[in-house]
Amino acid sequence: MIEKYESVTGGCFCGAVRYAAEVNLHDAYYCHCQACQKLTGSPATVGVLVRPGTLSYTKEEPRFFQSSPFGKSGFCQNCGSPVIWMSPEDEEWANVYVGSLDHPENVVPSKHDCVESQLPWHKFADDLPRNRSDDDPELMKMWAKFGLSHDGKPL
Ligand SMILES: [Zn+2]
Ligand SMILES: [Zn+2]
Repeated sequence: MIEKYESVTGGCFCGAVRYAAEVNLHDAYYCHCQACQKLTGSPATVGVLVRPGTLSYTKEEPRFFQSSPFGKSGFCQNCGSPVIWMSPEDEEWANVYVGSLDHPENVVPSKHDCVESQLPWHKFADDLPRNRSDDDPELMKMWAKFGLSHDGKPL
């Protein structure tokens, strides 16, 4: 992984929500979890991490709702586009969905997460690392703290 942040801009479909941030374009990750599928109406999401302290909204701010015990999702109130995901406990920990970037073509995916819920027909011609949620002790610990398994179901 290349530790290099670059300044980017992006926003929602209708242009009401606009942001500027520094992100690591070389550390984008696919998330195949069921929450991401439902949140975005897509088979998977691709996010890039925001460098802490660099995110600012240059037009309207997104509206947030709590989408999991440790995540809140920001979307445009006007057009409904999901734009950002953020930890509610630690506002510094955020990623933007790459489809919201003005130049998503510059993104380089580095891994697949939550592959246990990857849809069987969603195939990739890459040899990127593939991680199951239960391979990530930190993630499992976070879910367990809320009495939930990785897919949000009670333990
Ligand atoms: Zn919008
Ligand atoms: Zn996900």
